[in-house]
Amino acid sequence: MRIDIITVVPELLESPLSHSIVGRAIKKGIVEIEVHNLRKYGKGPRLQVDDYSYGGDAGMVLMVEPVFKMIEELKSQRDYDEVIYMSPDGEVLNQGIANELSLKGNIIILCGHYKGIDNRIREHLITREISVGDYVLSGGEIPAAILADAIVRLIPGALTDETSALSDCFQDGLLASEIYTRPAEFNGWKVPEVLLSGNPKLIREWQDENAIQRTRERRPDLLDE
Ligand code: SAH
Repeated sequence: MRIDIITVVPELLESPLSHSIVGRAIKKGIVEIEVHNLRKYGKGPRLQVDDYSYGGDAGMVLMVEPVFKMIEELKSQRDYDEVIYMSPDGEVLNQGIANELSLKGNIIILCGHYKGIDNRIREHLITREISVGDYVLSGGEIPAAILADAIVRLIPGALTDETSALSDCFQDGLLASEIYTRPAEFNGWKVPEVLLSGNPKLIREWQDENAIQRTRERRPDLLDE
C-alpha cells in the first residue's frame, strides 16, 4: 500500500510516521508513506499557497491551484483509490473505515491548514472527507497521522502476533477485555485468578465475558448496533 500526504507543515508528520508500528511497517516495506510539501507548487517568489477568503472572514484559505498541481503530479505517477481530505465536517473515523481503507492500494491524504481549503478542491478533487472527531485542530496533519496509523496497523504483517488487532477495541464491535502482566500480585492487588489458570478455554470465556461486560458499562451504543 502507498499513502501520499500533502501538507504545508511536513515537519508535523515526521515523528509520528517514523517510529513504533508505523515506522517499522515502512522499514519492512509493508507500506510506503510519502509526505509532500504543498509549497512545491506555491505561487511567486514567496511560494504562496494561501490567500484571504472571499467574503472577508478572518483566516487564510489554501488555494486551489497548488493543490490541483500537486494532486495532478501524483496522479500522473499512479492511480489512486481515494483522495481524502481531513476535515472536521467529514465522516467521523472509526475502526470500520480504517479496516476498509487498509484494503486499498494507493491513497492521497490532503491536510488543510489555517481556515481550511478552497471549496472547489473539495468539489472536484476530493473523493472522501474524514474527521477525527467533533473538535477543531489547527491543521490536518495530526488527523492525517491518526488516519495513517489506524490504517497501517491493520495491513497484514504490520503487527506481530502479540499485538494482534483482533483482540483490540472495536475490531469485533466490542471493547477489548482487561489486560494484566507480571507480577501476579502487587501491593495486595491481584490479577484475576482465571488468567493464571493456564486453561485457554476458561481464559477465552473470561475474556469474552469481560469484553461484553465492559462494553455494556462503557459503550452500550456498540451493543445496540
Ligand atoms: N474552518 C474549518 C476548520 C479549519 S481547521 C471549519 O470550521 O471546519 C484547519 C484544518 O485542520 C482543516 O482544514 C482540516 O484539514 C484540519 N482539521 C481540523 N479539525 C479536524 C478534525 N476534527 N478532523 C480532521 N481534520 C481536522
